[in-house]
Amino acid sequence: MTFAALGLNEPLLTTLNSLSYHTPTAVQQGAIPAILGGRDVLAGAQTGTGKTAAFLLPLIQRLGGQSAQSKAPLVLVLAPTRELAQQVADSAGKYAQGTAMRTGIAYGGVSLRPQIEALAEGREILVATPGRLLDLINQQALVLSDVAALVLDEADRMLDLGFSDEIRAILKLLPKTKQTLFFSATFPKLVKDLAYGMLKDPLLVEVTPENSTVDAIRQTLYQMDKGKKAGALAFLIGSGNWQQVLVFVRTKQGADALVKELALDGIKADSLHGDKSQGARQRALDDFKAGTIRALVATDVAARGIDIVSLPHVVNFELPFNAEDYVHRIGRTGRAGNEGHAISLVARDEENLLADIEQLIGRPLPMIWLTGFEPAFDEALARSGNPRKQRAKAKAKAKAQAVYGIKKKK
Ligand code: AMP
Repeated sequence: MTFAALGLNEPLLTTLNSLSYHTPTAVQQGAIPAILGGRDVLAGAQTGTGKTAAFLLPLIQRLGGQSAQSKAPLVLVLAPTRELAQQVADSAGKYAQGTAMRTGIAYGGVSLRPQIEALAEGREILVATPGRLLDLINQQALVLSDVAALVLDEADRMLDLGFSDEIRAILKLLPKTKQTLFFSATFPKLVKDLAYGMLKDPLLVEVTPENSTVDAIRQTLYQMDKGKKAGALAFLIGSGNWQQVLVFVRTKQGADALVKELALDGIKADSLHGDKSQGARQRALDDFKAGTIRALVATDVAARGIDIVSLPHVVNFELPFNAEDYVHRIGRTGRAGNEGHAISLVARDEENLLADIEQLIGRPLPMIWLTGFEPAFDEALARSGNPRKQRAKAKAKAKAQAVYGIKKKK
């Protein structure tokens, strides 16, 4: 399969060639012809699948020749985070080189003025986070009446971050007739409801569920006490001589605390989370990419949209509450045919989360002990047995009752 066979024109093919994109990814193969034909698309795809090019390339071709009546955007891409917005805008700049389409960006946490000035010059493609977009509209720096295509990128994250009111407000300001492209990694009920309310006869594009790609990643799970995790992580980084490790934690405070603990062990680290200024986040990311720091400690939301291909190590310092996030997290390693290793540090009170993850990926994830960081012996636990095994037993019993009609003994 080639990009030419998908219907892309010569100028774009030349650009793709210069970027060394030779073969379209699965989501590109599915989505590009439909988007070129003006159809709505509902795509299940996450970062790393090539989804950005899947929507930008055909939109640039389809709308690039259209002379705008005003300086207002023709393509509006909504993204959940500044990082993702920046990444999509960078891609748009690359793909639209040599065309008349100019890319603008709008996200919060930085001064409004440069964004207002850029919009005044005219931007055919605008990539924005929902809150800042509404601010710009309120400032009368922007109208959405010319938008011919709307893209929701990482719609699930936008709802997770509480942008549902903003999205609904933005939808009201958009023309009724437009093409809508809806991208999301997961489809919980709220996301489905939003999608079905927005799309007209969409083409469904589902990229191979990432759950199956998980098998290509080496996964190691260490059972350990909470209090030993920071020391164990420093030991793993040091003894393995890891130079670039992405560490996932659940909270912003947890991220900052872990960075301090790693520093005490002589490991240079920085955190990436939503409470940091845009400048500080970009610096942390640049330092990580450049190898100035060895560990980047991130929350799930902040880590979405980080465009680092093939990280050698990903650590779950804490398991995520949402099992699907485990799959997203470990999918950050082992990309593009590179070997990857995902390590999880699992405390006793996280073992029920592990059961959910095992169910999602459809296979057991046995835990082992890390020498020197074994969990403390717990007498109560020894007496009562392992809670995971007990839960599994209870589940099996309930299933047997359901299947074979076995009744509980009185
Ligand atoms: P995305 O899923 O859009 O974040 O893209 C992930 C990465 O893959 C980005 O660095 C893109 O530049 C790159 N990419 C996208 N499509 C292709 C392709 N067909 N061939 C090679 N690289 C690609």
